[in-house]
Amino acid sequence: MSEKIQAPRGTFDVLGDDALARDRLVEVARGILEPAGYARIETPAFESTALFARGVGESTDIVQKEMYTFEAGEGESLTLRPEGTAPVCRAYIEHGMHKLPQPVKLWYLSSYFRRERPQKGRYRQFWQLGIEAIGSDDPAVDAEAIVLLSEILETLGARGLRLRLSSLGTPATRAEYRDRLVAHLRANEDRLSQEVRDRIELNPLRAFDADHPGTREVMASAPLLLDALDEEDLTHFEQVKAMLDGAGVVYEVDPTLVRGLDYYTRTLFEFTSDALGAQSGVAGGGRYDGLVELIGGPAVPGVGWAAGVERMLLASPPPPVAPPPVDLYVAYAKPELRADAFKLAADARRAGHAARLELAGRSLKGQLKQADRMDARYVAIFGEEGVSLKDMESGEQKIVEAETVMHHIRGAL
Ligand code: ATP
Ligand code: MG
Repeated sequence: MSEKIQAPRGTFDVLGDDALARDRLVEVARGILEPAGYARIETPAFESTALFARGVGESTDIVQKEMYTFEAGEGESLTLRPEGTAPVCRAYIEHGMHKLPQPVKLWYLSSYFRRERPQKGRYRQFWQLGIEAIGSDDPAVDAEAIVLLSEILETLGARGLRLRLSSLGTPATRAEYRDRLVAHLRANEDRLSQEVRDRIELNPLRAFDADHPGTREVMASAPLLLDALDEEDLTHFEQVKAMLDGAGVVYEVDPTLVRGLDYYTRTLFEFTSDALGAQSGVAGGGRYDGLVELIGGPAVPGVGWAAGVERMLLASPPPPVAPPPVDLYVAYAKPELRADAFKLAADARRAGHAARLELAGRSLKGQLKQADRMDARYVAIFGEEGVSLKDMESGEQKIVEAETVMHHIRGAL
Protein backbone atom coordinates (compact mmCIF):
# COMPACT_ATOMS: atom_id res chain seq x y z
CA MET A 1 0.00 0.00 0.00
CA SER A 2 1.18 3.56 -0.67
CA GLU A 3 1.81 5.98 2.16
CA LYS A 4 -1.36 7.40 3.65
CA ILE A 5 -2.15 11.06 3.07
CA GLN A 6 -4.08 12.78 5.84
CA ALA A 7 -6.13 15.95 6.04
CA PRO A 8 -3.89 18.95 6.88
CA ARG A 9 -3.47 19.90 10.55
CA GLY A 10 -6.35 21.97 11.87
CA THR A 11 -8.81 20.84 9.15
CA PHE A 12 -11.56 18.23 9.28
CA ASP A 13 -13.99 16.31 7.13
CA VAL A 14 -17.72 16.85 7.56
CA LEU A 15 -19.51 13.50 7.64
CA GLY A 16 -22.78 11.84 8.52
CA ASP A 17 -24.70 13.35 11.43
CA ASP A 18 -22.33 16.34 11.54
CA ALA A 19 -23.29 17.17 7.94
CA LEU A 20 -26.99 16.94 8.84
CA ALA A 21 -26.47 19.15 11.91
CA ARG A 22 -24.78 21.76 9.71
CA ASP A 23 -27.63 21.66 7.21
CA ARG A 24 -30.04 22.24 10.05
CA LEU A 25 -27.97 25.18 11.26
CA VAL A 26 -28.13 26.77 7.80
CA GLU A 27 -31.90 26.28 7.72
CA VAL A 28 -32.34 27.79 11.19
CA ALA A 29 -30.21 30.79 10.18
CA ARG A 30 -32.00 31.27 6.87
CA GLY A 31 -35.39 30.95 8.56
CA ILE A 32 -34.54 33.75 10.99
CA LEU A 33 -32.42 36.08 8.83
CA GLU A 34 -34.30 36.16 5.52
CA PRO A 35 -37.69 37.16 6.98
CA ALA A 36 -35.79 40.01 8.69
CA GLY A 37 -34.60 41.22 5.28
CA TYR A 38 -31.10 39.75 5.10
CA ALA A 39 -30.08 38.43 1.66
CA ARG A 40 -27.41 35.78 1.13
CA ILE A 41 -23.98 36.85 -0.11
CA GLU A 42 -20.96 34.74 -1.02
CA THR A 43 -17.55 36.30 -1.68
CA PRO A 44 -14.33 34.67 -2.99
CA ALA A 45 -12.27 32.42 -0.71
CA PHE A 46 -9.25 34.67 -1.29
CA GLU A 47 -8.81 38.40 -1.68
CA SER A 48 -6.05 40.96 -2.10
CA THR A 49 -3.84 40.88 0.98
CA ALA A 50 -4.23 44.68 1.20
CA LEU A 51 -7.96 44.29 1.93
CA PHE A 52 -7.26 42.49 5.21
CA ALA A 53 -4.12 44.45 6.08
CA ARG A 54 -6.16 47.64 5.86
CA GLY A 55 -9.62 46.36 6.75
CA VAL A 56 -8.78 44.07 9.68
CA GLY A 57 -5.89 46.17 10.92
CA GLU A 58 -2.11 45.78 10.89
CA SER A 59 -1.90 45.47 14.67
CA THR A 60 -4.38 42.58 15.01
CA ASP A 61 -3.41 38.98 15.76
CA ILE A 62 -5.06 38.00 12.50
CA VAL A 63 -2.88 40.18 10.29
CA GLN A 64 0.26 39.84 12.41
CA LYS A 65 0.41 36.05 12.49
CA GLU A 66 -2.68 34.16 11.34
CA MET A 67 -3.08 34.83 7.61
CA TYR A 68 -2.40 32.39 4.79
CA THR A 69 -0.80 34.70 2.28
CA PHE A 70 0.66 33.69 -1.05
CA GLU A 71 2.24 35.34 -4.07
CA ALA A 72 0.08 34.99 -7.15
CA GLY A 73 2.65 36.20 -9.67
CA GLU A 74 3.42 39.66 -11.07
CA GLY A 75 3.82 40.99 -7.55
CA GLU A 76 0.21 40.25 -6.61
CA SER A 77 -0.27 39.15 -3.02
CA LEU A 78 -3.42 37.20 -2.11
CA THR A 79 -4.72 35.95 1.24
CA LEU A 80 -7.21 33.20 2.11
CA ARG A 81 -10.03 35.12 3.82
CA PRO A 82 -9.56 35.09 7.62
CA GLU A 83 -12.88 36.88 8.23
CA GLY A 84 -15.96 38.05 6.37
CA THR A 85 -16.59 41.71 7.16
CA ALA A 86 -13.88 43.30 5.02
CA PRO A 87 -14.79 41.14 1.96
CA VAL A 88 -18.49 41.98 2.29
CA CYS A 89 -17.65 45.70 2.56
CA ARG A 90 -15.42 45.32 -0.49
CA ALA A 91 -18.35 43.77 -2.39
CA TYR A 92 -20.68 46.56 -1.17
CA ILE A 93 -18.32 49.12 -2.69
CA GLU A 94 -17.58 47.16 -5.84
CA HIS A 95 -21.27 46.71 -6.70
CA GLY A 96 -22.28 50.26 -5.83
CA MET A 97 -24.64 49.04 -3.14
CA HIS A 98 -24.65 52.49 -1.54
CA LYS A 99 -27.14 53.41 -4.28
CA LEU A 100 -29.63 50.84 -2.97
CA PRO A 101 -32.06 51.63 -0.15
CA GLN A 102 -29.99 51.63 3.05
CA PRO A 103 -29.11 49.73 5.09
CA VAL A 104 -28.11 46.86 2.81
CA LYS A 105 -28.50 43.70 4.88
CA LEU A 106 -26.47 40.63 3.93
CA TRP A 107 -25.82 37.21 5.48
CA TYR A 108 -23.26 34.52 4.74
CA LEU A 109 -22.11 31.11 5.78
CA SER A 110 -18.63 30.46 4.50
CA SER A 111 -15.30 28.96 5.45
CA TYR A 112 -12.42 31.03 6.81
CA PHE A 113 -8.73 30.35 7.24
CA ARG A 114 -6.40 31.26 10.09
CA ARG A 115 -2.98 29.86 10.90
CA GLU A 116 -3.67 29.10 14.57
CA ARG A 117 -2.67 26.39 17.00
CA PRO A 118 -5.42 23.80 16.41
CA GLN A 119 -7.41 22.58 19.41
CA LYS A 120 -11.00 21.75 20.19
CA GLY A 121 -13.13 24.55 18.74
CA ARG A 122 -10.12 26.17 17.04
CA TYR A 123 -9.25 25.12 13.52
CA ARG A 124 -7.27 26.40 10.55
CA GLN A 125 -10.25 26.13 8.25
CA PHE A 126 -13.51 26.87 10.04
CA TRP A 127 -16.96 28.13 9.16
CA GLN A 128 -18.70 31.29 10.21
CA LEU A 129 -22.28 32.37 9.94
CA GLY A 130 -22.36 36.14 9.71
CA ILE A 131 -24.39 39.21 8.87
CA GLU A 132 -23.49 42.75 7.86
CA ALA A 133 -25.93 45.69 7.75
CA ILE A 134 -24.27 48.53 5.88
CA GLY A 135 -25.49 52.10 5.38
CA SER A 136 -27.23 53.16 8.59
CA ASP A 137 -26.04 54.22 12.03
CA ASP A 138 -29.48 53.85 13.59
CA PRO A 139 -29.16 52.05 16.95
CA ALA A 140 -32.10 49.87 15.88
CA VAL A 141 -29.82 48.17 13.34
CA ASP A 142 -27.39 47.22 16.12
CA ALA A 143 -30.19 45.97 18.36
CA GLU A 144 -31.85 44.05 15.54
CA ALA A 145 -28.57 42.33 14.65
CA ILE A 146 -28.05 41.24 18.26
CA VAL A 147 -31.65 40.05 18.69
CA LEU A 148 -31.39 37.94 15.50
CA LEU A 149 -28.14 36.37 16.67
CA SER A 150 -29.62 35.63 20.06
CA GLU A 151 -32.64 34.03 18.40
CA ILE A 152 -30.48 31.81 16.20
CA LEU A 153 -28.40 30.63 19.16
CA GLU A 154 -31.52 29.97 21.20
CA THR A 155 -33.24 28.05 18.38
CA LEU A 156 -30.14 25.90 17.96
CA GLY A 157 -30.30 25.15 21.68
CA ALA A 158 -26.87 26.58 22.54
CA ARG A 159 -26.19 26.14 26.25
CA GLY A 160 -24.53 28.33 28.87
CA LEU A 161 -24.77 31.51 26.83
CA ARG A 162 -23.62 34.87 28.06
CA LEU A 163 -23.85 38.14 26.13
CA ARG A 164 -21.44 40.95 26.94
CA LEU A 165 -22.00 44.40 25.53
CA SER A 166 -20.05 47.62 25.41
CA SER A 167 -19.49 50.71 23.31
CA LEU A 168 -16.22 51.99 21.92
CA GLY A 169 -17.42 55.44 20.95
CA THR A 170 -16.18 57.25 17.88
CA PRO A 171 -12.58 57.25 16.64
CA ALA A 172 -12.01 60.71 18.16
CA THR A 173 -13.14 59.64 21.63
CA ARG A 174 -11.16 56.47 21.24
CA ALA A 175 -7.98 58.29 20.23
CA GLU A 176 -8.20 60.63 23.20
CA TYR A 177 -8.97 57.72 25.54
CA ARG A 178 -6.16 55.73 24.03
CA ASP A 179 -3.65 58.41 25.00
CA ARG A 180 -4.88 58.27 28.59
CA LEU A 181 -4.69 54.47 28.62
CA VAL A 182 -1.16 54.47 27.17
CA ALA A 183 -0.14 56.95 29.86
CA HIS A 184 -1.60 54.66 32.52
CA LEU A 185 0.25 51.65 31.09
CA ARG A 186 3.51 53.60 30.84
CA ALA A 187 3.19 54.74 34.47
CA ASN A 188 2.87 51.09 35.57
CA GLU A 189 5.12 49.51 32.94
CA ASP A 190 7.23 47.46 35.37
CA ARG A 191 4.19 45.43 36.49
CA LEU A 192 3.03 44.48 32.99
CA SER A 193 3.70 41.26 31.10
CA GLN A 194 6.36 41.46 28.40
CA GLU A 195 3.76 40.91 25.67
CA VAL A 196 1.59 43.80 26.83
CA ARG A 197 4.63 46.02 27.32
CA ASP A 198 5.75 45.32 23.74
CA ARG A 199 2.36 46.34 22.44
CA ILE A 200 1.58 49.42 24.54
CA GLU A 201 1.71 51.69 21.49
CA LEU A 202 0.45 49.14 18.97
CA ASN A 203 -2.71 48.01 20.75
CA PRO A 204 -3.09 49.16 24.37
CA LEU A 205 -6.74 47.98 24.56
CA ARG A 206 -5.63 44.39 24.33
CA ALA A 207 -4.14 44.74 27.83
CA PHE A 208 -7.69 44.28 29.18
CA ASP A 209 -7.61 40.76 27.69
CA ALA A 210 -4.47 39.66 29.52
CA ASP A 211 -4.37 36.76 32.02
CA HIS A 212 -1.04 37.89 33.52
CA PRO A 213 -1.64 38.74 37.25
CA GLY A 214 0.43 41.94 37.33
CA THR A 215 -1.20 43.21 34.17
CA ARG A 216 -4.65 42.45 35.57
CA GLU A 217 -3.87 44.48 38.69
CA VAL A 218 -2.76 47.42 36.59
CA MET A 219 -5.88 47.15 34.43
CA ALA A 220 -8.19 47.11 37.46
CA SER A 221 -7.41 50.80 37.99
CA ALA A 222 -7.16 51.71 34.30
CA PRO A 223 -9.46 54.39 32.86
CA LEU A 224 -12.49 52.94 31.06
CA LEU A 225 -13.61 53.90 27.60
CA LEU A 226 -17.29 53.72 28.57
CA ASP A 227 -16.68 56.60 31.03
CA ALA A 228 -15.16 58.66 28.23
CA LEU A 229 -17.99 58.43 25.67
CA ASP A 230 -19.36 61.70 24.39
CA GLU A 231 -23.02 62.65 24.59
CA GLU A 232 -23.98 61.30 21.17
CA ASP A 233 -22.26 57.94 21.57
CA LEU A 234 -23.70 57.55 25.03
CA THR A 235 -27.21 58.17 23.71
CA HIS A 236 -26.63 55.68 20.89
CA PHE A 237 -25.52 53.07 23.43
CA GLU A 238 -28.49 53.80 25.72
CA GLN A 239 -30.87 53.32 22.80
CA VAL A 240 -29.32 50.01 21.80
CA LYS A 241 -29.65 48.81 25.40
CA ALA A 242 -33.26 49.99 25.67
CA MET A 243 -34.23 48.08 22.53
CA LEU A 244 -32.49 44.93 23.77
CA ASP A 245 -34.35 45.30 27.07
CA GLY A 246 -37.59 45.66 25.14
CA ALA A 247 -36.83 42.50 23.15
CA GLY A 248 -36.08 40.59 26.34
CA VAL A 249 -32.43 39.94 25.45
CA VAL A 250 -30.31 39.55 28.58
CA TYR A 251 -26.82 41.10 28.52
CA GLU A 252 -24.08 42.36 30.78
CA VAL A 253 -22.39 45.67 30.12
CA ASP A 254 -18.66 44.94 30.19
CA PRO A 255 -16.50 48.05 29.79
CA THR A 256 -13.38 45.92 29.41
CA LEU A 257 -14.70 44.04 26.40
CA VAL A 258 -12.07 43.99 23.67
CA ARG A 259 -12.28 42.32 20.32
CA GLY A 260 -9.54 41.23 17.99
CA LEU A 261 -10.41 43.52 15.10
CA ASP A 262 -9.31 47.14 14.84
CA TYR A 263 -12.25 48.56 12.94
CA TYR A 264 -14.97 48.60 15.58
CA THR A 265 -16.69 51.82 16.68
CA ARG A 266 -19.59 52.27 19.12
CA THR A 267 -21.50 49.02 19.79
CA LEU A 268 -19.40 45.96 20.55
CA PHE A 269 -20.65 42.57 21.74
CA GLU A 270 -19.69 38.97 22.25
CA PHE A 271 -21.56 35.78 23.02
CA THR A 272 -19.65 33.17 25.01
CA SER A 273 -20.76 29.75 26.18
CA ASP A 274 -19.54 28.10 29.35
CA ALA A 275 -20.27 24.75 27.68
CA LEU A 276 -17.17 25.26 25.52
CA GLY A 277 -14.17 25.32 27.86
CA ALA A 278 -11.17 27.34 26.77
CA GLN A 279 -12.45 28.43 23.32
CA SER A 280 -15.53 30.04 24.82
CA GLY A 281 -16.24 32.65 22.12
CA VAL A 282 -19.32 31.65 20.14
CA ALA A 283 -19.99 34.86 18.25
CA GLY A 284 -18.86 38.43 18.21
CA GLY A 285 -19.54 41.62 16.39
CA GLY A 286 -20.02 45.31 16.48
CA ARG A 287 -20.34 48.54 14.61
CA TYR A 288 -17.67 49.61 12.13
CA ASP A 289 -18.57 53.08 10.96
CA GLY A 290 -15.20 53.87 9.37
CA LEU A 291 -14.46 50.60 7.63
CA VAL A 292 -16.10 51.07 4.23
CA GLU A 293 -14.35 54.41 3.76
CA LEU A 294 -11.06 52.92 5.00
CA ILE A 295 -11.06 50.39 2.18
CA GLY A 296 -11.85 52.91 -0.51
CA GLY A 297 -15.63 53.31 -0.42
CA PRO A 298 -18.03 56.09 0.55
CA ALA A 299 -18.27 57.15 4.20
CA VAL A 300 -21.08 54.82 5.27
CA PRO A 301 -21.59 53.19 8.66
CA GLY A 302 -22.09 49.47 9.25
CA VAL A 303 -22.69 46.84 11.88
CA GLY A 304 -22.39 43.05 11.86
CA TRP A 305 -21.43 39.86 13.62
CA ALA A 306 -19.88 36.48 12.94
CA ALA A 307 -20.63 33.24 14.76
CA GLY A 308 -18.39 30.17 14.67
CA VAL A 309 -20.31 27.23 13.20
CA GLU A 310 -18.23 24.57 14.95
CA ARG A 311 -18.56 26.35 18.30
CA MET A 312 -22.32 26.83 17.90
CA LEU A 313 -22.62 23.09 17.23
CA LEU A 314 -20.32 22.21 20.13
CA ALA A 315 -22.44 24.34 22.46
CA SER A 316 -25.73 22.82 21.27
CA PRO A 317 -27.02 19.35 22.09
CA PRO A 318 -27.05 17.29 18.89
CA PRO A 319 -30.53 17.48 17.31
CA PRO A 320 -32.40 14.22 16.78
CA VAL A 321 -31.25 13.10 13.37
CA ALA A 322 -33.80 11.16 11.36
CA PRO A 323 -32.47 9.43 8.26
CA PRO A 324 -34.17 10.67 5.10
CA PRO A 325 -37.35 8.65 4.43
CA VAL A 326 -37.42 6.18 1.52
CA ASP A 327 -40.75 5.95 -0.32
CA LEU A 328 -39.90 3.13 -2.68
CA TYR A 329 -37.16 0.52 -2.81
CA VAL A 330 -36.85 -1.19 -6.19
CA ALA A 331 -35.46 -4.74 -6.06
CA TYR A 332 -34.95 -7.30 -8.80
CA ALA A 333 -34.61 -11.08 -8.78
CA LYS A 334 -32.00 -11.43 -11.53
CA PRO A 335 -29.58 -9.18 -13.41
CA GLU A 336 -31.65 -9.27 -16.63
CA LEU A 337 -34.34 -7.28 -14.82
CA ARG A 338 -31.97 -4.53 -13.65
CA ALA A 339 -32.75 -2.17 -16.55
CA ASP A 340 -36.52 -2.38 -15.87
CA ALA A 341 -35.91 -1.76 -12.18
CA PHE A 342 -33.62 1.16 -13.03
CA LYS A 343 -36.35 2.74 -15.18
CA LEU A 344 -38.95 2.47 -12.42
CA ALA A 345 -36.63 4.05 -9.85
CA ALA A 346 -35.84 6.93 -12.25
CA ASP A 347 -39.55 7.45 -13.06
CA ALA A 348 -40.43 7.44 -9.38
CA ARG A 349 -37.82 10.10 -8.62
CA ARG A 350 -39.09 12.23 -11.47
CA ALA A 351 -42.55 11.93 -9.93
CA GLY A 352 -41.12 13.32 -6.69
CA HIS A 353 -40.69 10.11 -4.68
CA ALA A 354 -37.58 9.17 -2.73
CA ALA A 355 -36.67 5.99 -4.59
CA ARG A 356 -33.69 3.67 -4.13
CA LEU A 357 -32.33 0.91 -6.32
CA GLU A 358 -29.96 -1.95 -5.67
CA LEU A 359 -26.50 -0.76 -6.78
CA ALA A 360 -24.10 -3.40 -5.52
CA GLY A 361 -25.33 -6.69 -7.05
CA ARG A 362 -26.83 -8.10 -3.84
CA SER A 363 -28.98 -11.23 -3.89
CA LEU A 364 -32.74 -10.66 -3.69
CA LYS A 365 -32.57 -11.61 -0.02
CA GLY A 366 -29.80 -9.04 0.50
CA GLN A 367 -31.83 -6.39 -1.33
CA LEU A 368 -34.87 -6.97 0.87
CA LYS A 369 -32.68 -6.66 3.94
CA GLN A 370 -31.44 -3.30 2.59
CA ALA A 371 -35.02 -2.13 2.03
CA ASP A 372 -35.82 -3.09 5.59
CA ARG A 373 -32.79 -1.27 6.96
CA MET A 374 -33.85 1.91 5.11
CA ASP A 375 -37.35 1.55 6.46
CA ALA A 376 -38.73 1.81 2.91
CA ARG A 377 -42.46 2.50 2.74
CA TYR A 378 -42.95 0.35 -0.39
CA VAL A 379 -40.84 -2.34 -2.03
CA ALA A 380 -41.29 -3.22 -5.71
CA ILE A 381 -39.68 -6.55 -6.68
CA PHE A 382 -39.12 -7.30 -10.36
CA GLY A 383 -39.44 -11.10 -10.65
CA GLU A 384 -40.48 -13.94 -12.95
CA GLU A 385 -44.20 -13.15 -12.87
CA GLY A 386 -44.01 -9.35 -13.11
CA VAL A 387 -43.73 -6.78 -10.37
CA SER A 388 -44.68 -7.62 -6.83
CA LEU A 389 -45.48 -4.47 -4.83
CA LYS A 390 -45.34 -4.70 -1.08
CA ASP A 391 -46.79 -2.11 1.29
CA MET A 392 -44.36 -2.37 4.21
CA GLU A 393 -46.77 -0.67 6.59
CA SER A 394 -49.76 -2.98 6.10
CA GLY A 395 -47.78 -6.00 4.88
CA GLU A 396 -50.15 -6.22 1.91
CA GLN A 397 -48.53 -7.54 -1.28
CA LYS A 398 -49.85 -7.79 -4.84
CA ILE A 399 -48.70 -8.40 -8.38
CA VAL A 400 -49.05 -5.24 -10.51
CA GLU A 401 -48.05 -3.96 -13.95
CA ALA A 402 -44.72 -2.06 -13.82
CA GLU A 403 -46.42 1.00 -15.37
CA THR A 404 -48.98 1.16 -12.55
CA VAL A 405 -46.60 1.10 -9.57
CA MET A 406 -46.63 4.87 -9.32
CA HIS A 407 -50.40 4.94 -9.47
CA HIS A 408 -50.57 2.42 -6.61
CA ILE A 409 -48.20 4.22 -4.28
CA ARG A 410 -49.21 7.79 -5.07
CA GLY A 411 -52.30 7.80 -2.90
CA ALA A 412 -50.53 6.51 0.18
CA LEU A 413 -47.48 8.81 0.13
P1 ATP B 1 -11.01 33.74 19.63
O1 ATP B 1 -10.89 34.75 20.73
O2 ATP B 1 -11.62 32.45 20.09
O3 ATP B 1 -9.74 33.55 18.86
P2 ATP B 1 -11.84 35.64 17.67
O4 ATP B 1 -12.05 36.89 18.45
O5 ATP B 1 -10.59 35.47 16.91
O6 ATP B 1 -12.08 34.35 18.61
P3 ATP B 1 -13.74 36.38 15.64
O7 ATP B 1 -12.71 36.83 14.70
O8 ATP B 1 -14.59 37.38 16.31
O9 ATP B 1 -13.09 35.41 16.73
O10 ATP B 1 -14.68 35.32 14.93
C1 ATP B 1 -16.03 35.12 15.32
C2 ATP B 1 -16.26 33.70 15.79
O11 ATP B 1 -15.67 32.76 14.93
C3 ATP B 1 -15.65 33.38 17.15
O12 ATP B 1 -16.49 33.80 18.19
C4 ATP B 1 -15.55 31.87 17.09
O13 ATP B 1 -16.81 31.28 17.39
C5 ATP B 1 -15.25 31.61 15.64
N1 ATP B 1 -13.82 31.37 15.41
C6 ATP B 1 -12.81 32.29 15.35
N2 ATP B 1 -11.64 31.68 15.09
C7 ATP B 1 -11.90 30.35 14.96
C8 ATP B 1 -11.11 29.19 14.68
N3 ATP B 1 -9.81 29.28 14.45
N4 ATP B 1 -11.74 27.98 14.64
C9 ATP B 1 -13.07 27.87 14.85
N5 ATP B 1 -13.87 28.92 15.13
C10 ATP B 1 -13.30 30.15 15.18
MG1 MG C 1 -8.77 34.53 17.32
